[in-house]
Amino acid sequence: MASKPRIGVYPGTFDPLTLGHLDIIRRGAHLVDRLVIGVTTNPSKSPMFTVAERMAMVAQETSDIPSVSVVEFDSLLMDFAEREGATLILRGLRAVADFEYEYQMAGMNQQLNDRIETVFLMADVCLQPIASRLVKEIARYGGVIDKFVTPAVATAVAQRLSQDPEFSDRRA
Ligand code: ADP
Repeated sequence: MASKPRIGVYPGTFDPLTLGHLDIIRRGAHLVDRLVIGVTTNPSKSPMFTVAERMAMVAQETSDIPSVSVVEFDSLLMDFAEREGATLILRGLRAVADFEYEYQMAGMNQQLNDRIETVFLMADVCLQPIASRLVKEIARYGGVIDKFVTPAVATAVAQRLSQDPEFSDRRA
């Protein structure tokens, strides 16, 4: 009998998708048969990009990895993972700053559903400091973000800032 495919979920806001996220996606894709990228609507973060735009970015930049799919979600993460048939949740761990939040979230998610494990991955050392929030901040001040995002994402950020300069007042 064929064994059940191992499915993982990598949830995030991806506002915007960075090279750090992409590195985690590539590493994660090796660990599972199917990797579902869960893009949260997360209105509390006042995202720069709509969920549809963020999903399109992720889909475009991962089109060469057949096992990756992109799904919107605005429910409890554990419910989303269960719906997708996942047994793993992937999260990226950057520095000490991420640890406290991720530790709490993984612990609480474990209480909600003990059948799904949270697995932490580290991005390549040179990609670890990258954060979507800082990418947006650098771009707002006219800095070059090419080292942190793909060319298509850099263009999308530049376009958004030129269309909506008011955006510079919003939080990441
Ligand atoms: P969230 O709002 O859920 O934190 P993000 O899009 O900011 O969504 O991040 C999604 C996941 O990717 C988180 O687990 C975050 O720690 C991880 N991540 C983001 N950037 C990096 C990076 N440069 N290296 C490793 N992990 C990262």
